[in-house]
Amino acid sequence: MARAIGIDLGTTNSLVAHVDPRNRPQVITVDEGRPLLPSAVHYAADGTVEVGASARRQAPQRPVDTVLSVKRFMGRGPGDIRAEDRGISSFDEGGAVVKLRVAGGTRSVTPIEVSAEILKVLKRRAAEAFGGPPGGCVITVPAYFDDAQRQATKDAGRLAGLEVLRLLNEPTAAALAYGLDKQVTGTFAVYDLGGGTFDVSILRLEGGVFEVLATGGDTHLGGDDFDRVVAARLLREGLTPPTATPSPAVLRGATAAAQRLREALSAEQVVEADVELPDGFRLAARLTRQELEALLLPVVERTSEPCRSALRDSGLARVDGVVLVGGATRTPLVRRHVQALFGQEPLSDLDPDTVVALGAAVQADALDQGGREDVLLLDVIPLSLGVEMMGGVVEKIILRNSTIPASATQQFTTYADGQTGMVIHVVQGERELARDGRSLARFTLKGIPPMPAGVARVEITYAVDADGILQVAAKELATGLEQTIQVKPTYGLGEDQIEAMLIESIEHAEADVTERFLREWRVEGDRILGSLESAFAVDAELLKATERAAIEQRLAGLKRAMAGDDYLAIKAWIESVDAATQAFAERRMDKHIKKAMAGHRVDEFAQAPRTTREGGDEE
Ligand code: ADP
Ligand code: MG
Repeated sequence: MARAIGIDLGTTNSLVAHVDPRNRPQVITVDEGRPLLPSAVHYAADGTVEVGASARRQAPQRPVDTVLSVKRFMGRGPGDIRAEDRGISSFDEGGAVVKLRVAGGTRSVTPIEVSAEILKVLKRRAAEAFGGPPGGCVITVPAYFDDAQRQATKDAGRLAGLEVLRLLNEPTAAALAYGLDKQVTGTFAVYDLGGGTFDVSILRLEGGVFEVLATGGDTHLGGDDFDRVVAARLLREGLTPPTATPSPAVLRGATAAAQRLREALSAEQVVEADVELPDGFRLAARLTRQELEALLLPVVERTSEPCRSALRDSGLARVDGVVLVGGATRTPLVRRHVQALFGQEPLSDLDPDTVVALGAAVQADALDQGGREDVLLLDVIPLSLGVEMMGGVVEKIILRNSTIPASATQQFTTYADGQTGMVIHVVQGERELARDGRSLARFTLKGIPPMPAGVARVEITYAVDADGILQVAAKELATGLEQTIQVKPTYGLGEDQIEAMLIESIEHAEADVTERFLREWRVEGDRILGSLESAFAVDAELLKATERAAIEQRLAGLKRAMAGDDYLAIKAWIESVDAATQAFAERRMDKHIKKAMAGHRVDEFAQAPRTTREGGDEE
């Protein structure tokens, strides 16, 4: 039987572990004899992709083509990129997701694709260790990861060809590795200081289930900050020839030297370095642990407040145990600091580098042992299910990655006066336009009683059962008219197609959104042209010739804009038409209300339904 694996997909380092036949969780050697795979991906101009330590070594010479700390960009948009990251990497501007320009500017990749490269290597190493492909996997994520970040992580797993059984919170994984779940009840703090991020979580265990009571931390605090302060000192005191403005390559070289010295000082009292840097520079330094601790103290102290506030948020005065996670917690100063903060000695029997991966392996193994039942209940919908709207855009009804069984209902209305049928086109996929998704079914709800546009209420319900079978029901609420069909969403859609579609939707996200707006505004423009045409036919006498001419002129502008592809122009012309027809609309309203009320009492109208038309008359 294929063995399940646990993966710690870290900002700085990634690991893979499994539970061996003698029931012991073990990490697998992945890179240059070590269990740690540096989360570094190098894209060479010739198209080759390198992952791990060899990729990281390229960073000083080729910073733009070497992607480090990609986890920070998972599930994020270009607006989330920090200035310091812009100084190192090259980004494609615009768009909905972060895109990095690599391979000498010839390729642009999303964080999901970069992470998938890392996962592919871990998968391959596990396969080599097992002598066959691994089974399902559990991937860990920070407890604070939002839905987009979790989905991105899951997508990276799928892209790498992994069967992702579950995502697991990193602090929970650490607690599992320590077997804390074997205790009856307890509260724990997990202090995780990694390369680039600091996370603290307060967990409560009850009945074998961990609950995250509170989280805190700093997404830009970790060993990298230690390296920065140490590198600054080395550059100040050990660089020949001296310079106040080192190039990015020299900076990266000094940072790498700082990291080596600092890590060595976790075991030694004094270390020395003498290294050649790019561009003819040389760095020579001697550093004692005491000097290092003086440099690090201000950085380490930045972890105090997040710990205190997480504890406060959890409502606990103290915890039963403290777990250390992350390579940077090997620093003796950090351990002393944690001990003082929580008033107790932290658990440290397990290697803080590997503890998360070991816990993930324990969970993967348990899910595997638990058989299919457990897993089936956690199955998710691979691609969103939606309905095509006017203009060909898709309204998603059930979102991708919803756990099944799932169901959702939305109300729709008619577009034209007197419309008696409604076409329901069921579409699957992440793209904005129906023509780019996969068409699953199309049927027409017939026999809607003729009503003015926008008055009919049609409720569409999508329900996916535990076997992944979709049932679509459409119901007109006034008459109770209903029609139901069954569709099997994933039928004939292979994993590779899902992947291709995911990649496509990521690649086209920006163009899709623009095109969606364009279509929506064209539909709105059509609606306005149509309704004014009928209004002119009925109520032409309410307009003076000059008013009519002014409106016609703006309508011509609107038609011109609708023929083009700038949705903002269409929107602007619609607003202009709206403004020009305001008086006309009011006169029509007066005329028709008078007509409608003839022979009725005023109070019969008191309960009339309100419309949502903008610029209403109720102010
Ligand atoms: P992440 O969770 O961000 O992937 P890790 O848990 O792998 O990160 O931690 C990486 C950090 O741990 C790096 O900053 C590295 O320098 C630091 N580290 C690794 N070994 C030691 C050590 N012996 N002493 C101090 N810091 C260390
Ligand atoms: Mg980590």
